[in-house]
Amino acid sequence: MEEFAKREHDPYFQAQMATTSVSGDSLANRVWVSGPVIIGAGPSGLAVAACLKSKGVDVLILEQANCIASLWQIKTYDRLCLHLPKRFCQLPLMPFPKDFPTYPTKQQFLAYLEAYAKNFDLKPVFNTTVVRAEYDRGCGLWRVKTKVNEYICPWVIVATGENAEEVVPKIEGMNEFVGPILHTSSYKSGDCFEKKKVLVVGCGNSGMEVCLDLCNYNACPSLVVRDSLHVLPQEMLGRSTFGLSMCLLKWFPIQVVDRFLLLASHFMIGDTNKLGLGRPKLGPLELKNVSGKTPVLDVGTLAKIRSGDIKVYPGIKRLACNNVEFVDGRIEKFDAIILATGYRSNVTTWLKDTNLFSEKDGLPTKPFPEGWKGENGLYAAGFTKRGLLGTSIDAARIAEDIARQWTHKHEAFKSLQYHPAM
Ligand SMILES: Cc1cc2nc3c(=O)[nH]c(=O)nc-3n(C[C@H](O)[C@H](O)[C@H](O)COP(=O)(O)OP(=O)(O)OC[C@H]3O[C@@H](n4cnc5c(N)ncnc54)[C@H](O)[C@@H]3O)c2cc1C
Repeated sequence: MEEFAKREHDPYFQAQMATTSVSGDSLANRVWVSGPVIIGAGPSGLAVAACLKSKGVDVLILEQANCIASLWQIKTYDRLCLHLPKRFCQLPLMPFPKDFPTYPTKQQFLAYLEAYAKNFDLKPVFNTTVVRAEYDRGCGLWRVKTKVNEYICPWVIVATGENAEEVVPKIEGMNEFVGPILHTSSYKSGDCFEKKKVLVVGCGNSGMEVCLDLCNYNACPSLVVRDSLHVLPQEMLGRSTFGLSMCLLKWFPIQVVDRFLLLASHFMIGDTNKLGLGRPKLGPLELKNVSGKTPVLDVGTLAKIRSGDIKVYPGIKRLACNNVEFVDGRIEKFDAIILATGYRSNVTTWLKDTNLFSEKDGLPTKPFPEGWKGENGLYAAGFTKRGLLGTSIDAARIAEDIARQWTHKHEAFKSLQYHPAM
């Protein structure tokens, strides 16, 4: 910052700043931001902003959609409820209303987020996609570019989420299939699939729940299960399985807790292998730690598989007309295919030259709890593979860290904010 202050009056430096801000063919409008720029107005962006504001730090939030929490508002199905109890999903500094159920509905969660943004006076700049963010070693500041502006700031907080882009697998014959093929991000309810044979590809929480939803709308769903997976009951011994696991982990090693979870699951939901849902060798919590793969919490889908209302198939070999050929040689007719194949981070497409995020998957290179802070004022919020609980931990750490540097950097930056020559 001091270096920047000295060079700011240097005509060569001014010329350099002006030329390097050219985006496309036009000179971008330069906006000086003395506080952190937060990219993404999902729960993570809002949580960090609230924590920072509560410490007196001004923030700017840039959001590509026209609303907060666009993943929840636009890309989720109607019947969605939080998978984990509300006490593990609330954002920092503001609990859920007491009258909300243990597992709030999507609409209740969204109402909570709206109230959260209002409470902390968070006003993201909407319809603003960040297309490039780069640390300028010359001036020691970040350049965050959108189609219209270039924001110059001392800190960047990446809060674009682990679920920024749909993963759509390439399946042989996809173009030949005559029925609709859609990702779960465009699925709202089974309303338009009544009496239709629907193949749901992918058996995470979304795939399992979409199958259940289709059953409730009198469709005939089938589920493609390619890999082994852990399915656990959502509740055990009158407590949420997640809460119980957290509690047991305080006293017992992870392998012991895993063995307990598997034993209890066996008594409650039976042998899932018999339903075509083979279990991985590693236990559910160990697997989550090693690979980030989340166990599926059953909300009634297993009973429908057991009763034959939902059929289970192995991987798909190819598609043709109405037919789906599976890897075991079976061929079945389907009217529609729903891809519950998940999401991926988009960070590698716009964030340049950092070692905080991996080029491979756009997730932090260091595992939790180390992946929240990079170099030169770069931070990551909500990339812990631990859902909203991870978001809260990140938000508190980031706010603490920036607040410590705030007074010094902010004052230095304010003195530079506008220079007519730039
Ligand atoms: C169906 C479903 C159910 C889930 N249920 C739970 C649950 O019960 N409990 C739990 O803890 N977690 C759950 N999750 C995990 C979920 O990821 C988190 O709850 C939460 O949405 C993460 O918040 P986030 O802010 O990190 O990311 P997101 O909610 O994805 O928000 C990121 C925001 O960044 C914006 N953005 C992306 N790229 C750019 C860009 N280049 N420029 C500007 N803006 C950009 C996006 O538009 C988006 O609004 C669920 C996820 C899904 C898909």
